[in-house]
Amino acid sequence: MESYNSFKVARQQVLEAAKLLNLDDATKEFLSIPQFETNFSLHVKMDSGVTKIFQAFRIQYNYARGPAKGGIRFHPEETVDTIRALACWMTWKTAVVDLPLGGSKGGVRCDPKKLSDTELERLSREYVRAIFPMLGSDVDVPATDVYTNPQTMAWMMDEYETITKKHSPGVFTDKPLQIGGTEGRRDATARGGLITVREACNAHGFDPTKTFAIQGFGDAGQRTALLHKEILGGGKLVAVSDSKGAIYNKSGLDPKELVRHKLQKGSVLKFPGSKQISHEELLELNVEILYPAALENAINTKNAKNIKARMVCELANGPTTPDADLVLFKNKVHVIPDILASAGGVTFSYFEMVQDKSLFFWEEDEVHRQLDKKLTLAYKRVQETIKEKKVHPRLAAMLVGVARVAQACQLRGWV
Ligand code: GLU
Repeated sequence: MESYNSFKVARQQVLEAAKLLNLDDATKEFLSIPQFETNFSLHVKMDSGVTKIFQAFRIQYNYARGPAKGGIRFHPEETVDTIRALACWMTWKTAVVDLPLGGSKGGVRCDPKKLSDTELERLSREYVRAIFPMLGSDVDVPATDVYTNPQTMAWMMDEYETITKKHSPGVFTDKPLQIGGTEGRRDATARGGLITVREACNAHGFDPTKTFAIQGFGDAGQRTALLHKEILGGGKLVAVSDSKGAIYNKSGLDPKELVRHKLQKGSVLKFPGSKQISHEELLELNVEILYPAALENAINTKNAKNIKARMVCELANGPTTPDADLVLFKNKVHVIPDILASAGGVTFSYFEMVQDKSLFFWEEDEVHRQLDKKLTLAYKRVQETIKEKKVHPRLAAMLVGVARVAQACQLRGWV
């Protein structure tokens, strides 16, 4: 994922938006670097008794609009710059959906697939022991991300509460339902993305009942496959990939069976009736909608010109590089940018924080209704900006997000 430096990409996007917004130099500079970052090492006892050292990060990019907010990733290729970029994108993401939150991100450089559950628990608890003073429901609130899950959040919350000796469910989001989580969170990113696709179809006449392909089959990818019909009234899933490879079936892949296969076999490969294709072939299929739901920089200068999808709904963070954006725009591919399309997750996190604070929990219907309202509004706001400023969708979304954060920084007298 790192032939591109993601933070360079993220900064370039901020500076481009800042220029169009005519922001002064101080504001521009302030918004293109993190407000606070920490880089630390964790020492964790392995089951064998040997101690291993892991590099870890937590970066609070900007907290002008509210507590910093963003997930924690466990990934073998994590670097300070991937986390900086992701924290930066979280800042615009919370602002585009108009949540009273800032942006942050954390990570540990590790391969979670090679760690046992007990090792993962010790790693998660050690992470919190290292940085608990900089966390808090009014300070910085982590959540799940790539290769972390509600169990990780449960361990982390428990460690935080053990240290601080008080009940603090709102310090982590995406927790299991039984200990302060919210209804519907598992579907959140997918549901949010599909709402934006519904709006795009209504506005631009795309047909969501035609074909779609999903790159990445983690939570977001799986839930998108499962919910497609419910939210969009149809759609034929023809291709899916995960880190091990990609598969294709022109007649369609059954989402339920495919999820079952993935959970049983650990991969989508060898799904009955499918043929294996390359990662590149999946991205370049002639489908109505392509959902990148894996890691950064999947659509880049090399393949952008070959993308044949009519619409790209970015469920991953940072899947398209800036040069590729221009190619897609020129080729009239309708991109729903990550900071909008994948905002369902953090919007649910926000609902979880609200519920944890008030100790009053909403029913699923209410959560869905509120999500729909927020994302529909955000989609429309971005569309208006595209028309008004005549820019591509990512730049429009950035203009909305960056303007809101800049205003908060200025009102506070920071710049
Ligand atoms: N990891 C999700 C994201 O990148 C959710 C973050 C959160 O809820 O804080 O949007």
